[in-house]
Amino acid sequence: MNDFIILGTDTDAGKTTFALIWLARFSDHYAYWKPVETGPSDTARVTELAPATLVHLPMLRFETPVAPSLAARMENHAIPSADDIAQRAATVRERSLTAAARMNRSLVIETFGSPFSPLNEKELQLDLVRRLAMKSVLVSSPSLGAIGRTLQCLTALRSNGVEPLAVILMGSCDAFAEEEIRKHSGLPIIALEPPSEWTAIGLGEAAARQAAELDRLHAVLALVSRPSSLSPSLVWHPYTPLLGAPEPLPCVGACDEFLELADGRRVIDAISSWWTILHGHRHRPLMDTLADASRRIDHVLFAGVTHPWAVELAELLLGTMPWVGGRVFYSDNGSTAVEVALKLAYQFWRHHGETGRTRFVGFEHGYHGDTFGAMAVSRDPLFFGAFEPLLFGADIVPLDPDRLDAHLQRHAQETAAVILEPLVQGAGGMRMHTAKTLRQIAEVTRRHGVLFIADEVMTGGGRTGTLWAHQAAGIVPDLVCAAKTLAGGILPLAATLIAPKIVDAFRSADRSRTFFHGHSFTANPLACAIAVRNMRELLASPPTAPRLFERFWQQALAPLRAWTGIKDVRVRGSIAAIELDAAGGYLADVGARMRQTCLDLDVMLRPLGPVLYALPPYCTSEASLERIVEAMRRAIGG
Ligand code: PMP
Repeated sequence: MNDFIILGTDTDAGKTTFALIWLARFSDHYAYWKPVETGPSDTARVTELAPATLVHLPMLRFETPVAPSLAARMENHAIPSADDIAQRAATVRERSLTAAARMNRSLVIETFGSPFSPLNEKELQLDLVRRLAMKSVLVSSPSLGAIGRTLQCLTALRSNGVEPLAVILMGSCDAFAEEEIRKHSGLPIIALEPPSEWTAIGLGEAAARQAAELDRLHAVLALVSRPSSLSPSLVWHPYTPLLGAPEPLPCVGACDEFLELADGRRVIDAISSWWTILHGHRHRPLMDTLADASRRIDHVLFAGVTHPWAVELAELLLGTMPWVGGRVFYSDNGSTAVEVALKLAYQFWRHHGETGRTRFVGFEHGYHGDTFGAMAVSRDPLFFGAFEPLLFGADIVPLDPDRLDAHLQRHAQETAAVILEPLVQGAGGMRMHTAKTLRQIAEVTRRHGVLFIADEVMTGGGRTGTLWAHQAAGIVPDLVCAAKTLAGGILPLAATLIAPKIVDAFRSADRSRTFFHGHSFTANPLACAIAVRNMRELLASPPTAPRLFERFWQQALAPLRAWTGIKDVRVRGSIAAIELDAAGGYLADVGARMRQTCLDLDVMLRPLGPVLYALPPYCTSEASLERIVEAMRRAIGG
């Protein structure tokens, strides 16, 4: 679909004139909507002058010809929030696609004022534009000052994450202004003149005369959403068979809890894009930090070089640990954070002369990543069975303190470390254990003199209710792995947090005691800059969403426990899981069916076999939470 928003540098830039000429050329393909109007009605004008257009009525209309928020105040009304207007836009878009005998129309939305005019008492138009997350064009008039006005508006839009696809210069032709704006903005300029006569015929003539310019814009808009540019046959998707898999969703944008698809659909990202997105997609403070940092640095190696972002982040991270001192080792994903922890644990013992500690202990249903060390301590037969002959020695025990105790009584001297995902084992099916069990596991490990690694790759960032899940049990791990949400999910970054006693074992000028490990993108400065901002935000105001979501899930999902075919309903902080009583494990057919049912309702979930779970970003609205629950109920047959 070719939906787009018409923005204007200011009120009289010529947005409606452009809309009318556009609709005169493409009336059969488009629907028109202006969500809020003041003064003479543009909706009425479009209805009269572009009669073949499908015109949707505004949500609100005010007689007084002043800014909508002022008109609303004068007429004792409230303008809906950006959220509410965006939700209505989804309905309007749906109707444009399906209205009887007027199939498959793209939607053009005309905004009012400029993007920096007030929308309502609290928000600017810009908030609505960001919320709509649609393609846009910027209309400007070539009257005096056009170059500066247009470039200023574009710069301000871009710094707020809005990237118009073209500039429309609406008025009598000014080749100099066109050339300058093109040169400095890098955007296509579409120069249009208004009709000589304000009738449907006059508009038709203006559109015909300027068909080449209009078609050029049409091509620009179409190019961005052309599905063939997302051809899946060139790339190899993770966990996806090369034959028989459903087509991947073509995602062309993201905002808050939504993914924007090439066909204009907005789908709720109910699993935070593999648990990475923490606050919401393109969370503004983090994106602003990225933009600021990118004006100073891109990337620099971290061997023999340091930078303030990595050091400040380390200080913030270590300040949250239950020990004093320690160090942070950076890498770039969860698996590498785990590899670093495993290698450090093994080498720690070597430095103490205990070269026989070559084994690790993991737990049934544990998952720690797809690299070799991570596979060895996960040992999932389906995912990693094929690699079994290549994996180093690790023992997988049931997640039970007594069973661990029994194992370590016999094997503690050969064991370097125990590794566990605290409170929630994610990929293994969102299996949850209590803080008490976690405490007992840590105590047993400590009693046997073995190191304890908390893999907080999924549980970090407050997902389970505390900043780190291990804090709920008041335990002191020796190594903590963090990744996914560390930089808000915006850029890849991982950290292995290392307790002082391990660091001490490496304090030596003897090169044979060096930790020989590093990655090209270790401590990438841009990712660290975002993570600093993220940590500051998390520490200054701990997120309330996990507790609120927990209450919501408990109320909405707990009753499903009584349904036939439901084995279990589990909730911890922002995470909710429903386990079906179905055979087949991860490959159970029911998983693919549930995913599709949810997608049909514009909710993206990725069941882990018979376990349907949600783990949405913290910004997710109550309305979206309700849609997720509705999708889950339908998926399990409700
Ligand atoms: N540990 C845990 C607990 C995880 O959930 C994951 C990923 N799902 C990893 C490690 C591996 O992280 P990555 O995919 O970033 O390598």
